[in-house]
Amino acid sequence: MKIGVIGGGQLGRMLALAGTPLGMDFVFLDPAPDACAGALGEHIRADFSDQAHLRQLAEEVDLVTFEFESVPAETVAFLSQFVPVYPAANALRIARDRWLEKSLFQTLGIPTPAFADVQSQAELDAAVATIGLPAVLKTRTLGYDGKGQKLLRKAREVRDAFAELGSVPCILEAFVPFSGEVSLIAVRGLDGETRFYPLIHNSHDHGVLHLSVASSAHPLQALAEDYVGRVLSELDYVGVLAFEFFEVDGGLKANEIAPRVHNSGHWTIEGAECSQFENHLRAVAGLPLGSTAKLGESAMLNFIGSVPPLAQVIAIQDCHVHHYGKAFKVGRKVGHATLRSANRSTLDRQITAVETLIGTD
Ligand code: AMP
Repeated sequence: MKIGVIGGGQLGRMLALAGTPLGMDFVFLDPAPDACAGALGEHIRADFSDQAHLRQLAEEVDLVTFEFESVPAETVAFLSQFVPVYPAANALRIARDRWLEKSLFQTLGIPTPAFADVQSQAELDAAVATIGLPAVLKTRTLGYDGKGQKLLRKAREVRDAFAELGSVPCILEAFVPFSGEVSLIAVRGLDGETRFYPLIHNSHDHGVLHLSVASSAHPLQALAEDYVGRVLSELDYVGVLAFEFFEVDGGLKANEIAPRVHNSGHWTIEGAECSQFENHLRAVAGLPLGSTAKLGESAMLNFIGSVPPLAQVIAIQDCHVHHYGKAFKVGRKVGHATLRSANRSTLDRQITAVETLIGTD
């Protein structure tokens, strides 16, 4: 089976690493000449709106999927005329727009921070009057890793905030005094069968994911599965979906969804029976889903900007390194390590050992 992937970054690369043993071949469409997934399949170097090359992709493959969600809606609509596309256009349309996604959560009875659509400074002023401060102003589309957002604490920070984010459509959200951030990764097959990985605790550094730890018997697992299940059914979703929540007052508030494999799920490559990457491919290909069970304790640490000395990292017990083959650049995700252990205290020691090598205090 030949799989077309829109985007050729590390998520595409890890999809290919998971799918190749299943006999799958990959074609990536990405304008970047050095797209790192290109080493693992054919690389069509073209813009996401280049219809001639989209047509070429559709003709070559059995189905198309995505490794990022900021794909123009027209690209999805165009491809869908010629080839099955998963997840479907509607899921992408909603997930790429923070206002549409929060509105969906609200319709489905999933708690969210209070939020308002903001199209001008006057609407921002009105929203602040209703929601109060502190609050977070975010661009509706194209924000990631803390980019395209601004924390508003004082009235004077509100004054020029709309222009500072580029005078584009935004959403204002109440600031959530969360005790933790968790994500739930789910997979839903073509036949509607759904499986969930264990809830994952996430810690960020300057807005970028630093550490993900898979939990064991988390008290909010069932609640998170209920919320995510509502979204999956509503969208008749096919593939892996990641749902990020704030943990607050013993419950969950929805932050956002990603209609794709997710950085917080990279530990599943070595830490779960079947990885998020393989399960995404199984789902979109109409194959039986794999077990989402965890193999002991597991965590993932991102390598940001550079990869620490390989020999020293892999000398740490049960530490598995993934190098994305990307040029090193400040703030860029260039690799990660998965850690596995029989118990939590050993896992914590392994995490500290890797953090020491990557220079994080
Ligand atoms: P996002 O791009 O929406 O995932 O936001 C990036 C990070 O900013 C989150 O992981 C949180 O740490 C923080 N953040 C975003 N929205 C809020 C909010 N409404 N309240 C508090 N912190 C937030």
